[in-house]
Amino acid sequence: MAENPLFAPSSLPYQLPPFAEIREEHYLPAFERGMAEQLAEVEAITGSDEPPTFDNTIAALERSGRVLQRTATAFFSVVASDSTDGVMEIEKRISPELTRHSDAIRLNRALWARIKQVTTEDPEEAWLLEKYRDDFVRAGADLSEEEQARLRELNEELSRLSTEFAQNLLKASNDSALVVEDAKELDGFDEARIASLERDGRYVLPLLNFTNQPGLAQLTDRDVRRRLYTLSVERAPQNFGLAVRIAGLRAERAGLLGFPNHAAYRVADQTAKTVEAVEEMLGQLVGPAVRNARKEAEALAEQAGFAIEPWDWSFYSEKVRQARYDFDASAMRPYFELDRVFRDGIFHAATKLYGITFGERPDLRGYHEDVRVFEVFNEDGSALGLFGLDPYARPGKRGGAWMNNLVDQSFLFGEKPVVLNNLNITKPAAGPTLLTYDEVNTAFHEFGHALHGLFSEVRFPRVSGTSVPRDFVEYPSQVNEMWATWPEVLANYARHHETGEPMPAELVEKMQAAEKFNQGFMTVEYLAATLLDWAWHKLAPGEDVADAEAFEQKALEAAEIAFPLVRPRYRTNYFAHVFSGGYSAGYYSYIWSEVLDAESVEWFKENGGLKRENGDHFRRTLLSRGGSLDPLAAFRDFRGREPSIQPLLERRGLV
Ligand SMILES: [Zn+2]
Repeated sequence: MAENPLFAPSSLPYQLPPFAEIREEHYLPAFERGMAEQLAEVEAITGSDEPPTFDNTIAALERSGRVLQRTATAFFSVVASDSTDGVMEIEKRISPELTRHSDAIRLNRALWARIKQVTTEDPEEAWLLEKYRDDFVRAGADLSEEEQARLRELNEELSRLSTEFAQNLLKASNDSALVVEDAKELDGFDEARIASLERDGRYVLPLLNFTNQPGLAQLTDRDVRRRLYTLSVERAPQNFGLAVRIAGLRAERAGLLGFPNHAAYRVADQTAKTVEAVEEMLGQLVGPAVRNARKEAEALAEQAGFAIEPWDWSFYSEKVRQARYDFDASAMRPYFELDRVFRDGIFHAATKLYGITFGERPDLRGYHEDVRVFEVFNEDGSALGLFGLDPYARPGKRGGAWMNNLVDQSFLFGEKPVVLNNLNITKPAAGPTLLTYDEVNTAFHEFGHALHGLFSEVRFPRVSGTSVPRDFVEYPSQVNEMWATWPEVLANYARHHETGEPMPAELVEKMQAAEKFNQGFMTVEYLAATLLDWAWHKLAPGEDVADAEAFEQKALEAAEIAFPLVRPRYRTNYFAHVFSGGYSAGYYSYIWSEVLDAESVEWFKENGGLKRENGDHFRRTLLSRGGSLDPLAAFRDFRGREPSIQPLLERRGLV
């Protein structure tokens, strides 16, 4: 075997991983070497004769594990975006080993003893030191040998089960796809869409990761809608059992660590801090949201002329929007061409706000030929970093949209950020890629995360860019959504892909008016998922769940959000955020972050909107600081006051 490209730093610009050279067989040896190397580095720290200092202990830990970091970053990008059977095998094998490795460091008593002795006067160092201490305590550093032994077992088992949960879902998105023999059954889809679904004479509509499949809004055949919806909510049934085991093990672990349940453990290091704070906020939203959804349901039944079922909701809400607001969402698509949305919309808004510019680098490659790489520059021409865009859905790519870092910015290593945005847009069989309004909004959202990563100016990788609490990280990305419909930005990118005509102003106005309809649905489906996540993670240690589906129903009823026409955005069996992602007892984060988002949107509007001064202020006080200080302090620096929930309630029509 030629030299493993993961052993040495990448020689590509910005240390972009050399995906063209990396082969599947490189990953395992690089993981093994990376873990061994980091353990040796830790041993050098604990074996030092010098008294513990920030530099020889904390900074030394920050400098450790470079091969492992490089390998994990490249590998998990591929796991998420371009997985194969081979990659899935490696993931299954390596996940528990990585958990064991991380425990070997955080449960290392000699290392913990040194960390406890470190002191520093520097505020950025003091903040990082506090983070390390908290990480170690939360990982079980203070427990007895016996307790730590059990903790290691729990962590490994959890890592195995989470991987299995995710892999079941990846398979289910294709295995549970809607298959129809006759194109007539897809009536409501346009011809290009139908053509893109054709596979060997049949038509295959893969499932997206959430409950309410977008096709439900267009498919005119009621029975096809019922089949699609049923496939969606019943996919990957084996995950119900996995969820029960995962929740049980998490509760046991929380107990070991001195918490009443997993939710309390998870929120302790978030900006929310307590279970009560989260519940107080959710409590303010549930009643008004359900009332709004019930009102919407009445309007839908009236439109349909019969009692609707859950699979009818999207179809008739489109009809109501057309009748009440004379608005047809599909009329927008010809104006949202992918290239233009990015170049003249997302990039354009960023140039106006922050002065940054973008140059495509076709010479730089990702893990798949569809990944495009852009170099990003500051206004003075200095290099900022790389932005990668992977827009298309494909088998082997998980559902949803997300941002991840390929290289973390840090002054410690003098490295600039390399960030990636993943979307799941269906690639057309031919012709331009046209987006729905939701997809445009998602693209602006993910780019908000990308900016948070790109603007990072911190010393240490541990707190770089988006390394902030989960209930804060969605805030900058949500703020960036505001520019999608900002008149000056919209006029610049929303142009007909054939004629170049701007989108008619009245279509935009109608869309904005129509958006108010269905807020009840969207808030309820989100809150139901949030409260379901919450119920699973408020189980006390030892509390048994016999039947996951019955538990789910009871949890929704107890939270007063059980509404048969609006199921949770994710049911237990496909709630990847919480059973295989990092959002356990954390799905509340989106609405928690939205408080800060709504406040910030208000600030931009009060201060003249899309202006360099405004962008620079947001960048300087908030986006550039990553997790290098208390995030709420950064918010106060930006906004000049404590956050209030009022702007959010108004935006969601909940006052
Ligand atoms: Zn996000």
